[in-house]
This record gives sequence, C-alpha cells and structure tokens, in this order.
Amino acid sequence: VLRRLDSNELAGCVLAVPIVNVFGFIHQDRYLPDRRDLNRSFPGSATGSLAARMAKLFMREVVAVSTHGIDLHTGSNHRTNLPQVRADLDDPQTRRCALAFGAPMVIHGEAPAGSLRKAVAKKGIPVVVFEAGEPLRFDEAAISIGVDGVLRLMAALGMRDGSADPLPGPIVESRKRSWVRARRSGILRLEVGLGDSVRDRQRIGSIEDVLGGNSVPMRSSHAGIIIGHTAKPLVYQGDAIVHIARNPQPVVWDNLAKA
Ligand SMILES: [Zn+2]
Repeated sequence: VLRRLDSNELAGCVLAVPIVNVFGFIHQDRYLPDRRDLNRSFPGSATGSLAARMAKLFMREVVAVSTHGIDLHTGSNHRTNLPQVRADLDDPQTRRCALAFGAPMVIHGEAPAGSLRKAVAKKGIPVVVFEAGEPLRFDEAAISIGVDGVLRLMAALGMRDGSADPLPGPIVESRKRSWVRARRSGILRLEVGLGDSVRDRQRIGSIEDVLGGNSVPMRSSHAGIIIGHTAKPLVYQGDAIVHIARNPQPVVWDNLAKA
C-alpha cells in the first residue's frame, strides 16, 4: 500500500503499522511472552500486563490521533479465510467504509471483547477489519484484494484520487456466521473450499481413520457461503472445521452509491 501512495497527492495522513505485536512477529506466534492475546487486551492499561501496556500504547499513539481505522488480519493458526471485511454494518459511517473497501464478502458483527476493533469503535471511530488468508503465508490473490481495498477506501474518504482504481466485483453481505465442528477425531477430507456456496445439510467432506476406514460424512450446519476453514488435515473431535456466512445477500450497486 505504502509503495502505491504518493505523499504529494495525499490529503490527510496515513499511519501505517505493519507489525503491532512485535513479539508475535519475532516468535511467529500470536501469543505474547505472558501468554496473553494482544487482540483481546484492548483498550489496555498503562499499569497492567505486557499485553495491556502494548494495547494502551497503541491506543495512545495511533488510535487517539486517527479518524478512521483499517485492521488487517489473516485467519488464526491453521485456518484460512476468504477475503472479507468484518464491521458493524449498523453504523452508517462504518458501513460506508466496509462497502468502499470492495472485498467480495462483508460480514456484520460486533467485535470480540478486548479486540482493537471493539476499542476503536467505542471511541466513535469507524473501523473495519479485513480478514484474508492464512497466517505465515503470502496469498497473492488475498493480498491484492486487501491492497486495492485500502486504496479504494482511502479514495472514498477523499484522501486520494481513486479514478484509476479497479472496480470491485460483486459484494455479498452476511449478518450471521456459524462454524461446523468435527464430530470425531481423524483425518479430514474436505470437499469444499473458500467462497463455495453450500446448502443446509450438504455433504462438505468426511473424517476417516488412518487407513481410510470408518469414514464419517461432514454436513454443513446451515446454508451459506464458506468464508473460512481449517488448513489442517488432522482434526480433533470438536475442532472448528468450516466457517459459514449464513443468509448471504448481494449488495446492490445502487445501495453502494448511496453508502
Ligand atoms: Zn482476525
């Protein structure tokens, strides 16, 4: 994104933080040395745990001087995500940002307690999370949707000229999501992928033993679109396997223009 911005043609200021959790970056692990999750430690505290102090620092140095926020994520460990924007679509300003990003999927929801998104939204600052791909992997298709989305959102905010931006493809909106969990431990044979539409109770794969026997079919818990799935072939009973965005609705261009 930074390489595609020309500061001479920029209205406003971009605060780019490529790595928020420096410990996580060095150790290639989401959790801090004190075993806390930074993205469940917001808004933090100047006298609290290491995680709380890092969160507080970020709130003071970055959030407090910002008018809009984009939080760029991958799926968590051993999971991959369809490129998607998560945001509070009931807030008109945030909805406008979420749609302007132009990712193929926009998912409404309240942010988890302690997350950066939640703490930023609480300050009245429109914020969107872009989720795409797997941790520790470069997924070029997902990255380019993210880069284009950040630039498109900046154009929508009047920070840059977006007349040469690629048009986003169709956007689908969902307000509810569910995980399908493994009914037993074993070797997973997934038969669906990111972006696939599934019907309620549709077969989406199977879990079998090491010799391929005792195969138990997996069925989708709801109709919808697959927005994430495990990337591991070995699963335990109860593991989250497939993430479904329920009741997907196309966002019509007319609405987007008005957004
Ligand atoms: Zn995330």
